[in-house]
Amino acid sequence: MERDHDRTLETLAVTEGETPFRRGSEAGDVTSPIHLASTFALPGLDADMSLEDIDPDAGEFVYSRLSNPTRHALEKRLAALEGGAHGMAFSSGTAAIFTTLLSSVEPGDHVVAFDDLYAGTKRMLDGVFAARLGVEVSYVDATDTANVEAATTDETAVVWMESPTNPKLDLCDIEAIAEIADAHDATFGVDNTFASPYFQQPLELGADVVAHSATKYLNGHSDAVCGAVVTDDDELAEEICFQQQVGTGDMLSPFDSYLTLRGLKTLPMRMRQHEANAMAIAEFLETREEVAAVYYPGLESHPDHDLACEQMDGFGGILSFELEGELEDATRFVEALEEFTLAVSVGGVESLIELPAKMTHEPLPREEREELGITDTLFRVSVGVEGVEDLLADLERGFEALDRQTVVADDD
Ligand code: PLP
Repeated sequence: MERDHDRTLETLAVTEGETPFRRGSEAGDVTSPIHLASTFALPGLDADMSLEDIDPDAGEFVYSRLSNPTRHALEKRLAALEGGAHGMAFSSGTAAIFTTLLSSVEPGDHVVAFDDLYAGTKRMLDGVFAARLGVEVSYVDATDTANVEAATTDETAVVWMESPTNPKLDLCDIEAIAEIADAHDATFGVDNTFASPYFQQPLELGADVVAHSATKYLNGHSDAVCGAVVTDDDELAEEICFQQQVGTGDMLSPFDSYLTLRGLKTLPMRMRQHEANAMAIAEFLETREEVAAVYYPGLESHPDHDLACEQMDGFGGILSFELEGELEDATRFVEALEEFTLAVSVGGVESLIELPAKMTHEPLPREEREELGITDTLFRVSVGVEGVEDLLADLERGFEALDRQTVVADDD
């Protein structure tokens, strides 16, 4: 698969992988049909036939776990959007990350990871790779590249990063960390879920492999759990494919592949709207005295704003903010909201809000949460594509609920 440098991301998002009049699409469907078949008719018993030679690009399929036309169309598009040669679609972001790590480490290896990784990835590293495979994991504050440099040695097999992180939207310098990993022959993986390929291209910045919870922006409609991996490294891709198709069988179903293909068509438009709304909300929150801090890479007040301007093409649609007060204030605020739904996850067209200390990051010990700056009043917001006036009015409702309480307390 050659990289396509000529067409824009907008065009690739709509057309890459769509091939009317090929792959059994006799009607010439302009969108990939959902190929539900688990097995495919073979043309004959050719003595030279080998599973290795099956070429999905030529419309050849054998068994759906190995390759499926709908999933193949998605995998081509994922690769094109991240600017890599090989794309793979998984049954979840967790499966994508797990399979990539499994393909990159051996028992006794060393991994360097951002201490602010998605909590599920940390639990996977600790509970599976460290506990069962004897992999040693060093967590570092990667906002300072010197910490990554100090932790990475010639024993390091993998450097695993996220940028921006969840929920404080911290950034790490992908290009600088790529050089460190390269110097030690370590595989450098970046979870690009929060930025999406529209705003950040880790392979271009020097990463070896990119992973996604495609459940989030890539699908974009909160109606499928899916994962994606893209790499330019042929050997790594072959190993990940083996672990996906034979080692774990954690590939994406045809129906969810279809939903993600469909969602991807509007990725650029959605991302622009997510970002415009998020910026307006971040600026609004900064003006409120009830808010102790706002974390959004698009704000000049964000400690990594300059790095965001350098390595990203935009700032994304996720922000977090800390309310003044206690957990009860956070509860009152969120209960007054009507447009923002209290729910975990991010990246869908609808606006969601969550309290990491009680929801996504609740499994982490309190001390670890406190070290990461996750207080009891820190909210994470996934800003949707609704009318921003409605979202701002909704947040006003939340602040009014706090004010009402203050007035009652003053009267007491
Ligand atoms: N990576 C990040 C940054 C995430 O936010 C998540 C889920 O929230 C995952 C990975 C895991 O993805 P999934 O829930 O699709 O398994």
